[in-house]
Amino acid sequence: MPEVSPLQILQDPLLTQKGVEVAVLREDLLHPGIPGNKWRKLHYNLQAARAQGAETLVTFGGAFSNHIAAVAVAGKEFGFATIGYIRGEETRPLNPTLQFATDCGMHLRYLSRAEYRLRAEARFHAEILKTAPKPYLLPEGGTNLLAVKGCTEIVTGIQEPWDVLCVAAGTGGTLAGIVAGAAGKGKIIGFPALKGGEFLAKEVTELVQAYTGQTYTNWELQTGYHFGGYAKHTPELLTFIRQFYQKHAILLDPVYTGKMLHGVFDLIRQDYFPVGTKVVAVHTGGQQGWAGYAQRYGLTLDFLI
Ligand SMILES: *Cc1c(COP(=O)(O)O)cnc(C)c1O
Repeated sequence: MPEVSPLQILQDPLLTQKGVEVAVLREDLLHPGIPGNKWRKLHYNLQAARAQGAETLVTFGGAFSNHIAAVAVAGKEFGFATIGYIRGEETRPLNPTLQFATDCGMHLRYLSRAEYRLRAEARFHAEILKTAPKPYLLPEGGTNLLAVKGCTEIVTGIQEPWDVLCVAAGTGGTLAGIVAGAAGKGKIIGFPALKGGEFLAKEVTELVQAYTGQTYTNWELQTGYHFGGYAKHTPELLTFIRQFYQKHAILLDPVYTGKMLHGVFDLIRQDYFPVGTKVVAVHTGGQQGWAGYAQRYGLTLDFLI
């Protein structure tokens, strides 16, 4: 049985006016420390690592990566050493994400941007795996077929009827899992957090094909809600996140879920969904990102109230 997250139905005059229902799937509450899709993506990988007798989880990420934080917690909790290869040069003091990862016991190694570009290449993996005892490699963002398998359970765990599932996308692994889990049912919309997110169409199609052997057409990308690009934001986005918190008592994150839900409401305003549509928006977590925002932009969570 897949783990089940609560569905929180939103009350909003706009939704009443448009006749559209939106429920937030609280995947962010799934696991303390490894919230949302990161737990779904790691779950079967951790089982595989254990079954292989691996001792060290090795992975890659940017300096503010939710994935890096999640792997650090997973290692601590499930008894693996962890090594995180971080894009770019070391800066001291460590930012909150990397300090947290270090506190969990993760060893950090830094890759120049040129080296980081090799992160998906087999030869590069072979090199770095030589330097870790009994390693288990997790790709950037944790996206592999076991992660896709874990994310299928986001869908199969939903116990209410729905028409449209909305989810934020970074590498697209979570979106691929949801498309695979839906198996042709309903409609899935992915909201890339990166500028130029169109490239994800190919990645997601390939992941779904590799996992299911099928090609599904009941999904699409909405690429207009990146707010300037990955880890970028606008005053409009922050206002949306604040109002959302005040209305619904749900804290979104600034990198992924805030953009996705802003997109969902924008589409509703444009009458994108027929009257009667039941939308489920997946809250994939990501709240650890706020600590990085406090450091980079001086923006603490006080702005919410
Ligand atoms: C990592 C992350 C995503 C993106 O997941 P992908 O599988 O890489 O697309 C979305 N939302 C949150 C909160 C995340 O931390």
